[in-house]
Amino acid sequence: MLAAGRSVQVLEARNRPGGRAWTDPDTLGSPFDYGATWLHQAEQNGLAALAKGGFDHDTVRSHRCYIGSRPAGGAEMAEYDATYAAFHPRLAAARGTAPPDATAADYAPRGGEWDATVAHWEGPVICAAPLAAMDLRDFLDTQLGGPNLLLPEGIGGLLTRLAAGLPIAYGAAVQRLAWQEAGGVVAEGPFGRIAARAAIVTAPTAVLAAGAIRFAPELPADTAQAIHDLPLGLLNKVGLRAAGLDRLGLPPFAGLERRVQREEEAAMTFVAWPFARDHMMGFIGGEAAWALSRLGPDKAPAALLEHAFAELSLAYGPRAARALRREPALASDWGNDPWSLGAYSHARPGRAEARRILARSLGEGRLSFAGEACHPRFAATVGGAWASGEQAAAAVLATAGR
Ligand SMILES: Cc1cc2nc3c(=O)[nH]c(=O)nc-3n(C[C@H](O)[C@H](O)[C@H](O)COP(=O)(O)OP(=O)(O)OC[C@H]3O[C@@H](n4cnc5c(N)ncnc54)[C@H](O)[C@@H]3O)c2cc1C
Repeated sequence: MLAAGRSVQVLEARNRPGGRAWTDPDTLGSPFDYGATWLHQAEQNGLAALAKGGFDHDTVRSHRCYIGSRPAGGAEMAEYDATYAAFHPRLAAARGTAPPDATAADYAPRGGEWDATVAHWEGPVICAAPLAAMDLRDFLDTQLGGPNLLLPEGIGGLLTRLAAGLPIAYGAAVQRLAWQEAGGVVAEGPFGRIAARAAIVTAPTAVLAAGAIRFAPELPADTAQAIHDLPLGLLNKVGLRAAGLDRLGLPPFAGLERRVQREEEAAMTFVAWPFARDHMMGFIGGEAAWALSRLGPDKAPAALLEHAFAELSLAYGPRAARALRREPALASDWGNDPWSLGAYSHARPGRAEARRILARSLGEGRLSFAGEACHPRFAATVGGAWASGEQAAAAVLATAGR
Protein backbone atom coordinates (compact mmCIF):
# COMPACT_ATOMS: atom_id res chain seq x y z
CA MET A 1 0.00 0.00 0.00
CA LEU A 2 2.81 2.37 0.90
CA ALA A 3 4.63 1.44 -2.30
CA ALA A 4 1.46 2.34 -4.20
CA GLY A 5 1.61 5.80 -2.67
CA ARG A 6 -1.32 5.34 -0.26
CA SER A 7 -1.27 6.61 3.27
CA VAL A 8 -1.48 3.80 5.80
CA GLN A 9 -1.91 3.56 9.56
CA VAL A 10 -1.45 0.23 11.34
CA LEU A 11 -3.33 0.04 14.65
CA GLU A 12 -1.66 -2.62 16.80
CA ALA A 13 -3.07 -3.60 20.18
CA ARG A 14 0.23 -4.83 21.60
CA ASN A 15 3.34 -2.84 22.34
CA ARG A 16 5.41 -4.76 19.82
CA PRO A 17 5.13 -5.92 16.20
CA GLY A 18 4.91 -9.54 15.03
CA GLY A 19 1.74 -10.83 16.73
CA ARG A 20 2.02 -14.60 17.02
CA ALA A 21 5.61 -14.41 15.75
CA TRP A 22 7.57 -13.17 18.74
CA THR A 23 11.25 -13.65 19.47
CA ASP A 24 12.93 -13.15 22.83
CA PRO A 25 16.42 -12.22 21.65
CA ASP A 26 18.51 -12.73 24.77
CA THR A 27 16.93 -14.27 27.89
CA LEU A 28 18.28 -17.71 26.92
CA GLY A 29 21.51 -16.25 25.58
CA SER A 30 20.30 -16.56 21.98
CA PRO A 31 17.00 -15.87 20.16
CA PHE A 32 13.99 -18.00 21.16
CA ASP A 33 10.70 -17.91 19.29
CA TYR A 34 7.67 -18.03 21.60
CA GLY A 35 5.43 -18.56 18.58
CA ALA A 36 6.11 -19.28 14.91
CA THR A 37 9.34 -21.23 14.60
CA TRP A 38 9.81 -22.40 10.98
CA LEU A 39 9.16 -20.77 7.62
CA HIS A 40 7.38 -23.72 6.05
CA GLN A 41 7.22 -24.49 2.35
CA ALA A 42 10.03 -22.01 1.83
CA GLU A 43 9.95 -21.99 -1.96
CA GLN A 44 6.40 -20.60 -1.90
CA ASN A 45 6.82 -18.53 1.23
CA GLY A 46 7.08 -14.82 0.55
CA LEU A 47 8.99 -14.27 3.79
CA ALA A 48 11.82 -16.66 2.93
CA ALA A 49 13.47 -14.18 0.56
CA LEU A 50 13.41 -11.52 3.27
CA ALA A 51 15.03 -13.68 5.95
CA LYS A 52 18.72 -13.56 6.81
CA GLY A 53 20.36 -16.96 6.69
CA GLY A 54 17.28 -19.21 6.74
CA PHE A 55 18.52 -22.74 7.45
CA ASP A 56 16.70 -25.80 6.09
CA HIS A 57 16.07 -27.85 9.24
CA ASP A 58 15.17 -30.93 7.19
CA THR A 59 18.77 -31.32 6.00
CA VAL A 60 20.02 -32.15 9.50
CA ARG A 61 16.93 -33.17 11.45
CA SER A 62 17.19 -36.50 13.23
CA HIS A 63 14.53 -38.02 15.49
CA ARG A 64 14.71 -39.89 18.72
CA CYS A 65 11.55 -41.42 20.04
CA TYR A 66 11.32 -42.84 23.54
CA ILE A 67 9.21 -45.77 24.59
CA GLY A 68 9.05 -45.26 28.33
CA SER A 69 12.65 -44.67 29.41
CA ARG A 70 14.37 -46.31 26.45
CA PRO A 71 14.88 -45.02 22.92
CA ALA A 72 12.96 -46.92 20.24
CA GLY A 73 15.22 -49.32 18.36
CA GLY A 74 15.91 -49.33 14.63
CA ALA A 75 13.12 -51.77 13.75
CA GLU A 76 10.64 -49.84 15.89
CA MET A 77 11.61 -46.54 14.27
CA ALA A 78 11.20 -48.15 10.86
CA GLU A 79 7.71 -49.26 11.85
CA TYR A 80 6.95 -45.75 13.11
CA ASP A 81 8.18 -44.23 9.83
CA ALA A 82 6.08 -46.66 7.82
CA THR A 83 2.99 -45.86 9.90
CA TYR A 84 3.62 -42.16 9.33
CA ALA A 85 4.12 -42.64 5.61
CA ALA A 86 0.75 -44.41 5.34
CA PHE A 87 -1.19 -41.71 7.20
CA HIS A 88 -1.59 -38.96 4.60
CA PRO A 89 -2.29 -41.22 1.61
CA ARG A 90 -5.04 -42.91 3.65
CA LEU A 91 -6.73 -39.58 4.40
CA ALA A 92 -6.17 -38.24 0.88
CA ALA A 93 -7.80 -41.35 -0.59
CA ALA A 94 -10.97 -40.59 1.36
CA ARG A 95 -11.34 -37.06 -0.02
CA GLY A 96 -13.55 -38.01 -2.99
CA THR A 97 -16.03 -40.16 -1.11
CA ALA A 98 -16.03 -38.80 2.44
CA PRO A 99 -19.22 -37.03 3.58
CA PRO A 100 -19.10 -33.21 3.59
CA ASP A 101 -18.61 -33.02 7.36
CA ALA A 102 -15.92 -35.70 7.56
CA THR A 103 -13.16 -35.07 10.09
CA ALA A 104 -9.49 -35.96 9.84
CA ALA A 105 -10.07 -38.48 12.64
CA ASP A 106 -12.68 -40.39 10.63
CA TYR A 107 -10.03 -41.80 8.30
CA ALA A 108 -6.98 -41.90 10.57
CA PRO A 109 -5.63 -45.44 10.90
CA ARG A 110 -6.16 -46.95 14.37
CA GLY A 111 -5.10 -49.90 16.42
CA GLY A 112 -1.48 -50.18 15.25
CA GLU A 113 1.42 -49.78 17.65
CA TRP A 114 2.29 -46.31 16.29
CA ASP A 115 -1.08 -44.97 15.11
CA ALA A 116 -1.77 -42.91 18.23
CA THR A 117 1.71 -41.36 18.06
CA VAL A 118 1.18 -40.33 14.44
CA ALA A 119 -2.29 -38.95 15.29
CA HIS A 120 -0.76 -37.06 18.23
CA TRP A 121 1.76 -35.44 15.87
CA GLU A 122 -0.68 -34.65 13.12
CA GLY A 123 -3.39 -33.35 15.44
CA PRO A 124 -2.24 -31.62 18.66
CA VAL A 125 1.42 -31.04 17.76
CA ILE A 126 1.22 -29.84 14.16
CA CYS A 127 -2.36 -28.54 13.94
CA ALA A 128 -2.75 -27.56 17.63
CA ALA A 129 -6.09 -29.42 17.76
CA PRO A 130 -7.37 -33.00 17.84
CA LEU A 131 -7.97 -34.70 14.50
CA ALA A 132 -11.67 -35.06 15.41
CA ALA A 133 -12.06 -31.26 15.56
CA MET A 134 -10.77 -30.67 12.03
CA ASP A 135 -12.50 -30.77 8.69
CA LEU A 136 -10.92 -33.52 6.57
CA ARG A 137 -10.68 -31.46 3.38
CA ASP A 138 -9.29 -28.36 5.06
CA PHE A 139 -6.79 -30.58 6.86
CA LEU A 140 -5.66 -32.00 3.50
CA ASP A 141 -5.69 -28.64 1.70
CA THR A 142 -3.46 -26.99 4.29
CA GLN A 143 -0.82 -29.72 4.60
CA LEU A 144 2.67 -28.25 4.65
CA GLY A 145 5.95 -29.48 3.29
CA GLY A 146 9.55 -28.35 3.32
CA PRO A 147 11.91 -26.75 3.04
CA ASN A 148 11.28 -25.76 6.66
CA LEU A 149 13.58 -22.88 7.47
CA LEU A 150 14.80 -22.03 10.95
CA LEU A 151 16.01 -18.46 11.23
CA PRO A 152 19.01 -17.52 13.38
CA GLU A 153 17.30 -14.18 14.13
CA GLY A 154 13.96 -15.89 14.89
CA ILE A 155 10.74 -15.31 12.98
CA GLY A 156 9.71 -12.58 15.39
CA GLY A 157 13.15 -11.08 14.82
CA LEU A 158 12.52 -11.07 11.07
CA LEU A 159 9.12 -9.41 11.45
CA THR A 160 10.46 -6.84 13.90
CA ARG A 161 13.13 -5.95 11.35
CA LEU A 162 10.52 -5.67 8.58
CA ALA A 163 8.26 -3.54 10.78
CA ALA A 164 10.94 -0.94 11.50
CA GLY A 165 9.99 2.45 10.14
CA LEU A 166 6.42 1.48 9.22
CA PRO A 167 3.53 3.67 10.40
CA ILE A 168 2.46 1.48 13.33
CA ALA A 169 0.66 2.85 16.39
CA TYR A 170 1.27 0.51 19.35
CA GLY A 171 -1.11 0.04 22.27
CA ALA A 172 -3.86 0.91 19.78
CA ALA A 173 -6.55 -1.75 20.22
CA VAL A 174 -9.44 -1.19 17.84
CA GLN A 175 -12.67 -1.47 19.84
CA ARG A 176 -15.21 -0.36 17.24
CA LEU A 177 -15.08 -0.28 13.48
CA ALA A 178 -17.75 1.52 11.49
CA TRP A 179 -17.36 0.18 7.98
CA GLN A 180 -20.22 1.66 6.00
CA GLU A 181 -19.44 5.35 6.48
CA ALA A 182 -19.85 7.65 3.50
CA GLY A 183 -16.12 8.21 3.08
CA GLY A 184 -15.03 4.68 4.05
CA VAL A 185 -14.40 3.43 7.59
CA VAL A 186 -13.87 4.84 11.10
CA ALA A 187 -11.86 2.95 13.74
CA GLU A 188 -12.26 3.81 17.41
CA GLY A 189 -10.20 2.87 20.44
CA PRO A 190 -7.85 4.36 23.04
CA PHE A 191 -6.16 6.23 20.19
CA GLY A 192 -9.38 8.15 19.45
CA ARG A 193 -11.04 7.99 16.02
CA ILE A 194 -9.27 7.38 12.77
CA ALA A 195 -11.05 7.62 9.41
CA ALA A 196 -9.81 5.88 6.28
CA ARG A 197 -10.98 4.83 2.83
CA ALA A 198 -10.71 1.15 3.81
CA ALA A 199 -9.67 -1.17 6.66
CA ILE A 200 -7.92 -4.55 6.63
CA VAL A 201 -8.60 -6.43 9.88
CA THR A 202 -5.98 -9.03 10.81
CA ALA A 203 -7.00 -9.80 14.40
CA PRO A 204 -7.01 -13.58 15.04
CA THR A 205 -10.37 -15.31 14.58
CA ALA A 206 -10.60 -16.17 18.29
CA VAL A 207 -10.23 -12.48 19.16
CA LEU A 208 -12.90 -11.58 16.60
CA ALA A 209 -15.19 -14.36 17.87
CA ALA A 210 -14.79 -13.01 21.42
CA GLY A 211 -16.22 -9.69 20.22
CA ALA A 212 -13.09 -7.61 20.88
CA ILE A 213 -13.99 -5.41 17.90
CA ARG A 214 -17.58 -4.16 17.58
CA PHE A 215 -18.49 -3.84 13.91
CA ALA A 216 -21.06 -1.26 12.87
CA PRO A 217 -23.13 -2.37 11.12
CA GLU A 218 -22.82 -5.98 12.31
CA LEU A 219 -20.92 -8.29 10.00
CA PRO A 220 -22.92 -10.22 7.41
CA ALA A 221 -24.12 -13.55 8.79
CA ASP A 222 -21.84 -15.65 6.57
CA THR A 223 -18.73 -13.67 7.61
CA ALA A 224 -19.65 -13.96 11.29
CA GLN A 225 -20.25 -17.69 10.80
CA ALA A 226 -16.88 -18.08 9.04
CA ILE A 227 -15.12 -16.48 12.03
CA HIS A 228 -16.89 -18.96 14.31
CA ASP A 229 -15.99 -21.87 12.00
CA LEU A 230 -12.25 -21.11 12.10
CA PRO A 231 -11.39 -21.46 15.80
CA LEU A 232 -7.82 -21.40 17.05
CA GLY A 233 -6.24 -24.49 18.48
CA LEU A 234 -3.51 -24.14 21.07
CA LEU A 235 0.21 -24.79 20.88
CA ASN A 236 2.61 -23.56 23.54
CA LYS A 237 6.37 -23.65 23.72
CA VAL A 238 9.09 -23.78 26.33
CA GLY A 239 12.72 -22.74 26.05
CA LEU A 240 15.12 -24.58 28.38
CA ARG A 241 18.79 -23.76 28.66
CA ALA A 242 21.57 -26.27 29.29
CA ALA A 243 23.03 -26.11 32.79
CA GLY A 244 26.44 -27.43 31.81
CA LEU A 245 28.01 -29.47 29.05
CA ASP A 246 25.52 -32.37 29.04
CA ARG A 247 23.54 -32.31 25.78
CA LEU A 248 21.48 -35.42 26.65
CA GLY A 249 23.15 -37.32 23.85
CA LEU A 250 21.26 -35.27 21.29
CA PRO A 251 22.97 -33.61 18.30
CA PRO A 252 22.05 -30.04 17.31
CA PHE A 253 18.59 -29.75 15.70
CA ALA A 254 17.54 -33.26 16.85
CA GLY A 255 13.88 -33.96 17.53
CA LEU A 256 12.86 -35.74 20.72
CA GLU A 257 9.47 -37.29 21.34
CA ARG A 258 7.80 -40.25 23.00
CA ARG A 259 5.41 -42.96 21.90
CA VAL A 260 1.85 -42.43 23.15
CA GLN A 261 -1.11 -44.72 23.59
CA ARG A 262 -3.72 -42.01 22.98
CA GLU A 263 -3.71 -39.04 20.61
CA GLU A 264 -4.69 -36.66 23.42
CA GLU A 265 -1.91 -37.63 25.86
CA ALA A 266 -0.10 -34.63 27.34
CA ALA A 267 3.15 -35.66 25.63
CA MET A 268 5.64 -32.97 24.64
CA THR A 269 8.01 -32.89 21.70
CA PHE A 270 11.37 -31.14 21.74
CA VAL A 271 13.94 -29.75 19.33
CA ALA A 272 17.42 -29.79 20.80
CA TRP A 273 20.13 -27.17 20.53
CA PRO A 274 19.18 -25.28 17.33
CA PHE A 275 22.28 -23.87 15.61
CA ALA A 276 24.29 -25.69 18.32
CA ARG A 277 22.98 -23.12 20.80
CA ASP A 278 22.60 -24.23 24.38
CA HIS A 279 18.82 -24.33 24.60
CA MET A 280 16.04 -26.75 23.70
CA MET A 281 12.56 -25.89 22.50
CA GLY A 282 9.59 -27.91 23.73
CA PHE A 283 6.06 -28.00 22.33
CA ILE A 284 2.68 -28.99 23.73
CA GLY A 285 -0.55 -28.76 21.77
CA GLY A 286 -4.26 -29.46 21.71
CA GLU A 287 -6.38 -30.23 24.76
CA ALA A 288 -3.32 -30.87 26.95
CA ALA A 289 -2.16 -27.32 26.22
CA TRP A 290 -5.62 -25.90 26.93
CA ALA A 291 -5.76 -27.79 30.25
CA LEU A 292 -2.58 -26.01 31.38
CA SER A 293 -3.78 -22.70 29.92
CA ARG A 294 -6.96 -22.90 31.99
CA LEU A 295 -4.83 -22.52 35.13
CA GLY A 296 -4.74 -18.85 34.11
CA PRO A 297 -1.96 -16.43 33.17
CA ASP A 298 -0.42 -16.40 36.67
CA LYS A 299 0.07 -20.15 36.87
CA ALA A 300 0.07 -21.57 33.33
CA PRO A 301 3.68 -20.74 32.27
CA ALA A 302 5.19 -22.19 35.47
CA ALA A 303 2.97 -25.27 35.21
CA LEU A 304 4.06 -25.80 31.61
CA LEU A 305 7.73 -25.58 32.59
CA GLU A 306 7.10 -28.08 35.39
CA HIS A 307 5.40 -30.37 32.90
CA ALA A 308 8.30 -30.06 30.44
CA PHE A 309 10.74 -31.24 33.13
CA ALA A 310 8.40 -34.11 34.01
CA GLU A 311 8.23 -35.12 30.35
CA LEU A 312 12.00 -35.03 29.93
CA SER A 313 12.38 -37.05 33.12
CA LEU A 314 10.34 -39.86 31.59
CA ALA A 315 13.18 -40.39 29.12
CA TYR A 316 16.19 -39.19 31.10
CA GLY A 317 15.26 -39.62 34.76
CA PRO A 318 17.07 -37.23 37.17
CA ARG A 319 19.63 -36.44 34.45
CA ALA A 320 17.08 -34.07 32.86
CA ALA A 321 16.93 -31.81 35.93
CA ARG A 322 20.73 -31.76 36.12
CA ALA A 323 21.20 -31.02 32.41
CA LEU A 324 18.72 -28.14 32.15
CA ARG A 325 18.34 -24.97 34.16
CA ARG A 326 15.15 -24.02 35.93
CA GLU A 327 16.09 -20.39 35.37
CA PRO A 328 16.16 -18.66 33.07
CA ALA A 329 13.48 -20.68 31.30
CA LEU A 330 10.71 -19.44 29.01
CA ALA A 331 7.14 -20.59 28.40
CA SER A 332 4.56 -19.12 26.06
CA ASP A 333 0.93 -18.65 27.05
CA TRP A 334 -0.96 -17.97 23.83
CA GLY A 335 -4.30 -19.16 25.19
CA ASN A 336 -4.35 -16.43 27.84
CA ASP A 337 -2.95 -13.74 25.57
CA PRO A 338 -5.93 -11.43 24.94
CA TRP A 339 -4.68 -10.53 21.45
CA SER A 340 -4.45 -14.13 20.24
CA LEU A 341 -6.58 -16.38 22.52
CA GLY A 342 -4.99 -19.42 20.90
CA ALA A 343 -2.30 -20.41 18.43
CA TYR A 344 -3.65 -20.90 14.89
CA SER A 345 -6.80 -21.85 13.08
CA HIS A 346 -8.42 -25.01 11.79
CA ALA A 347 -11.76 -25.40 10.05
CA ARG A 348 -14.62 -27.04 11.90
CA PRO A 349 -15.98 -30.19 10.24
CA GLY A 350 -17.92 -29.35 7.09
CA ARG A 351 -16.67 -25.77 7.08
CA ALA A 352 -13.64 -25.78 4.79
CA GLU A 353 -15.24 -22.97 2.77
CA ALA A 354 -15.00 -20.64 5.75
CA ARG A 355 -11.50 -19.47 4.80
CA ARG A 356 -12.66 -18.20 1.41
CA ILE A 357 -15.78 -16.62 2.88
CA LEU A 358 -13.75 -14.74 5.50
CA ALA A 359 -11.29 -13.53 2.85
CA ARG A 360 -14.05 -11.87 0.75
CA SER A 361 -14.01 -8.11 0.97
CA LEU A 362 -17.14 -6.32 2.15
CA GLY A 363 -18.79 -2.97 1.59
CA GLU A 364 -17.35 -2.39 -1.90
CA GLY A 365 -13.86 -3.00 -0.60
CA ARG A 366 -14.13 -0.89 2.53
CA LEU A 367 -13.60 -3.82 4.88
CA SER A 368 -11.37 -6.86 4.35
CA PHE A 369 -10.12 -9.57 6.66
CA ALA A 370 -6.61 -10.98 6.33
CA GLY A 371 -4.27 -13.22 8.26
CA GLU A 372 -3.48 -16.89 8.55
CA ALA A 373 -7.11 -18.03 8.86
CA CYS A 374 -7.94 -16.46 5.48
CA HIS A 375 -5.45 -18.45 3.44
CA PRO A 376 -6.98 -21.61 1.94
CA ARG A 377 -3.60 -23.25 1.30
CA PHE A 378 -1.10 -21.89 3.85
CA ALA A 379 -3.50 -21.35 6.75
CA ALA A 380 -2.01 -21.48 10.24
CA THR A 381 1.33 -20.14 9.05
CA VAL A 382 3.22 -16.87 8.97
CA GLY A 383 3.73 -17.28 5.23
CA GLY A 384 -0.02 -17.70 4.77
CA ALA A 385 -0.72 -14.61 6.86
CA TRP A 386 1.79 -12.63 4.79
CA ALA A 387 0.30 -13.79 1.48
CA SER A 388 -3.23 -13.14 2.70
CA GLY A 389 -2.25 -9.60 3.72
CA GLU A 390 -0.74 -8.96 0.29
CA GLN A 391 -3.93 -10.20 -1.40
CA ALA A 392 -6.13 -8.04 0.81
CA ALA A 393 -3.97 -4.97 0.12
CA ALA A 394 -4.14 -5.59 -3.62
CA ALA A 395 -7.92 -5.93 -3.41
CA VAL A 396 -8.21 -2.67 -1.48
CA LEU A 397 -6.05 -0.88 -4.04
CA ALA A 398 -8.24 -2.24 -6.81
CA THR A 399 -11.49 -1.02 -5.23
CA ALA A 400 -11.82 1.37 -2.33
CA GLY A 401 -8.23 2.56 -2.64
CA ARG A 402 -8.76 4.08 -6.10
C1 LIG B 1 3.44 -21.70 19.47
C2 LIG B 1 3.23 -21.38 18.02
C3 LIG B 1 4.02 -21.98 17.06
C4 LIG B 1 3.84 -21.68 15.71
N1 LIG B 1 4.67 -22.24 14.79
C5 LIG B 1 4.62 -21.81 13.51
C6 LIG B 1 5.64 -22.18 12.59
O1 LIG B 1 6.58 -22.89 12.93
N2 LIG B 1 5.54 -21.70 11.32
C7 LIG B 1 4.53 -20.89 10.92
O2 LIG B 1 4.51 -20.47 9.75
N3 LIG B 1 3.57 -20.52 11.78
C8 LIG B 1 3.59 -20.94 13.06
N4 LIG B 1 2.67 -20.51 13.96
C9 LIG B 1 1.51 -19.75 13.48
C10 LIG B 1 1.86 -18.31 13.14
O3 LIG B 1 2.48 -17.71 14.24
C11 LIG B 1 0.56 -17.58 12.82
O4 LIG B 1 -0.18 -18.30 11.86
C12 LIG B 1 0.84 -16.20 12.23
O5 LIG B 1 1.82 -15.51 12.96
C13 LIG B 1 -0.46 -15.42 12.23
O6 LIG B 1 -0.25 -14.14 11.68
P1 LIG B 1 -1.49 -13.16 11.57
O7 LIG B 1 -0.97 -11.90 10.99
O8 LIG B 1 -2.62 -13.84 10.90
O9 LIG B 1 -1.98 -12.92 13.07
P2 LIG B 1 -1.18 -12.31 14.30
O10 LIG B 1 0.27 -12.60 14.19
O11 LIG B 1 -1.89 -12.76 15.51
O12 LIG B 1 -1.36 -10.75 14.09
C14 LIG B 1 -2.57 -10.13 14.39
C15 LIG B 1 -2.26 -8.85 15.13
O13 LIG B 1 -3.49 -8.22 15.49
C16 LIG B 1 -3.33 -7.63 16.75
N5 LIG B 1 -4.66 -7.40 17.31
C17 LIG B 1 -5.54 -8.30 17.82
N6 LIG B 1 -6.68 -7.69 18.18
C18 LIG B 1 -6.52 -6.38 17.88
C19 LIG B 1 -7.36 -5.23 18.02
N7 LIG B 1 -8.60 -5.29 18.52
N8 LIG B 1 -6.87 -4.02 17.62
C20 LIG B 1 -5.62 -3.91 17.11
N9 LIG B 1 -4.78 -4.97 16.96
C21 LIG B 1 -5.24 -6.18 17.34
C22 LIG B 1 -2.50 -8.63 17.52
O14 LIG B 1 -1.86 -8.02 18.61
C23 LIG B 1 -1.52 -9.10 16.44
O15 LIG B 1 -0.32 -8.35 16.46
C24 LIG B 1 2.82 -20.78 15.31
C25 LIG B 1 2.03 -20.16 16.27
C26 LIG B 1 2.22 -20.46 17.62
C27 LIG B 1 1.37 -19.75 18.64
